[in-house]
Order: sequence, then C-alpha cells, then structure tokens
Amino acid sequence: MGHKVLRYGAVLAGGSALAHGIPAVATIPFVRIKLFSKLSGLGRANHLALTFDDGPDPKSTLIFLDTLDQLGHKATFFMLGLMVERNPSIAREVVSRGHEIGLHGYEHINHLYRTFPGVLADIRKGFDTIVNLTDTTPTWFRPPYGVLSTSSLISAKLTGLKPILWTTWGKDWEDSCTPETIFHNLTKSIDPNSTNSRISNPRMAGPTLLLHDSDCTSQVSSWISSVNSLHLLDKWATENQFGLGTLSDHFL
Ligand SMILES: [Zn+2]
Repeated sequence: MGHKVLRYGAVLAGGSALAHGIPAVATIPFVRIKLFSKLSGLGRANHLALTFDDGPDPKSTLIFLDTLDQLGHKATFFMLGLMVERNPSIAREVVSRGHEIGLHGYEHINHLYRTFPGVLADIRKGFDTIVNLTDTTPTWFRPPYGVLSTSSLISAKLTGLKPILWTTWGKDWEDSCTPETIFHNLTKSIDPNSTNSRISNPRMAGPTLLLHDSDCTSQVSSWISSVNSLHLLDKWATENQFGLGTLSDHFL
C-alpha cells in the first residue's frame, strides 16, 4: 500500500545496510558504529528472535498465539499503545501465553517528522498504556517504520527502554506476499553455518526476524500469509538447529 511504500522509503534513506536486508539505523555514524550490531538484533548463536509489530489486533493476534502454541515457540510482540487501548484483553492474552511485549509507540508515527517533545510524549504514552493495561513493563522499543531518530533514542532511554530494530524481515506487508515469499525473505541472508558458529563469534550471531501480527498498517489480510509462514520457518529452524524465542531470550 502507498503508505507502506512511504514507510520503508523512509528507511531507505538511512543507508546501504538495507541492501543486505538490514534496516538502516540512525543516520549518525558514531551511533551506527557503536550500536549497530545490537540494534539490528544480533544476539546469541543458534537462536532466532521472533518479533511481531503493529498489534494487538482482534482479527489476527489470537491466531498467531494459537500457531505459536502449536509450534512451541515464544515471541516478542511490539504493540502500539493505541491498539492495546482498543484490545486490552488480547494484549493480556499475549502475556498469559508466555510471550513478551515490546513498545512500538502509541501511534504509528514517523519520528523524523515529529519534534523531540512529540516523540517523547508518544513513547511515554505508549509505555504507560502497556504498563497500566497489561501489568507488564516493556524492555524493548522498536520505532514505527524502523526509523530511529536521535529523538527516538533519547526518548527511549529516558523511558527506560532499549531500542532495537531487526536483522531480516518477511516483507509481509506487500500485496503479493505468500507464506513462501515471506519465509524466503526472512531466511535468504541467514547462513546457518556461520550464524550457528560458537567459535567465530558466540555472543553476536543469531538474527532477529520481523513480521507483523496485524494488517493495521499493511495490505488488508496480509497477516494470513504471515501466520502461515511460521510453519515453514519452524521447519527450517529445526533443520538448521536454531531455537526460536523472545528478544530477552535472545540476549541472555
Ligand atoms: Zn509498525
């Protein structure tokens, strides 16, 4: 959809890292150098962090939870405060089934177009909404559109949140996505031989995967392909000896 193109168009402005399927980070070089590996979600070896953005959504999130239960995996759900406000029982269900809640902001706004006080207010409102309605305290913050501005970084720090982006994405917002294309996009740049190597770099090896459990900012019903791609991902992860889990698990 148009705004999705714009959404990731904004990320494209960030730099060449996108060519490798990795989101652009901040545009400030020293931030990129110091934080890039952690920001792009490179965690422990033999492990994939599974993350979902944009929920909780009454149309789809419970189906993701059922599928994850069936496959035996936990994940981190980056929720929008506005969606939590509308669907608090689903947000609590995510917690009660053993998953982790991260913050995606209160509204799905591009931080490049907001003032620092505006970004700080949005992050604080989203954080408070999750704390008040789910009785859990998020650890992680992923900005809408993957655009991490200096305002985002400072606001996240002031709110006690750790910023994180992702390593690979399923492009599950695209009109033509299928479970197979999503699975391919998620895994094509992951080399299990190097990613699972405990010798070369045991602490910084496993990637973080980005999917969406809601179509609220994507093509209508795109979540159906996303949820179905989980079966393919589970099979591939088993074959390649990856565990799948939450971000907190990923950075143990
Ligand atoms: Zn989003």
